[in-house]
Amino acid sequence: GARLDIRNVSKSFVVNGAAVEALKDVSLDVAAGEFVVLLGPSGCGKSTLLRLVAGLDRDFRGSISQDGEPVAGTSLDRGIVFQEPRLFPWATVTQNIALGLKNAPLSERAKRETIAAHISLVGLDGFAEAYPHQLSGGMAQRAAIARGLVNRPRLLLLDEPFGALDALTRARLQLELQRIWAHEKISMILVTHDVDEAVLLGDRIIVLAPRPGRVARIFDVTVPRPRS
Ligand code: ADP
Ligand code: ADP
Repeated sequence: GARLDIRNVSKSFVVNGAAVEALKDVSLDVAAGEFVVLLGPSGCGKSTLLRLVAGLDRDFRGSISQDGEPVAGTSLDRGIVFQEPRLFPWATVTQNIALGLKNAPLSERAKRETIAAHISLVGLDGFAEAYPHQLSGGMAQRAAIARGLVNRPRLLLLDEPFGALDALTRARLQLELQRIWAHEKISMILVTHDVDEAVLLGDRIIVLAPRPGRVARIFDVTVPRPRS
């Protein structure tokens, strides 16, 4: 998995002509293969930080590097999964996942094989040719996870990936994600406001707690647990 270095990152948005500080002087790191959870209430800046790490927004102060290289734009070496699956309705599961491989330097045959392997990895065997409207919410999110992983990134970013699912589906997919993390040995950063989810999944939980004035203060909690 990838190492990540986030140093003194600040980010503000201009809202109605006034600057709103979303992140102020945030520093944290992620070790290779670590599963880090960013926990905090709505509005504390979790999604903003994840978007910066993803390279989706380059307008910030401070530095973010992955394996020593500054993050500059999106990269095949980072996958991302959002709260909504964001599948194209006109494309099958296979075609949606294939879009994630568009820029990968692989032969057509290798692409077909890796897509099939990822459909199995997320438990969607039998649904390769299904369209998004034929999938349940949980299955659509499985497809989104497959798309995020299909380039074999060394870092997977997940923004409230289970937030829109019912409790049973959420519990299933949390365990599936843990299995995939152990299997793929990649680094993960998962954003959530669900304390139980953070404790279940995180090696380390970074709590973004808003102080008066709204900018988060950081608590870094290492979760002691046996690792097999
Ligand atoms: P969280 O993910 O923890 O709910 P966000 O990162 O979405 O928090 O938001 C942090 C703060 O930044 C909030 O005050 C939010 O209103 C503000 N913010 C986020 N995105 C934008 C944007 N595109 N334009 C203006 N303000 C934004
Ligand atoms: P759900 O939202 O239906 O609970 P899950 O992601 O928890 O979805 O699905 C669990 C497994 O059950 C999936 O991997 C899928 O293979 C299987 N499954 C779900 N719905 C169907 C269906 N309509 N037909 C066949 N298998 C299904």
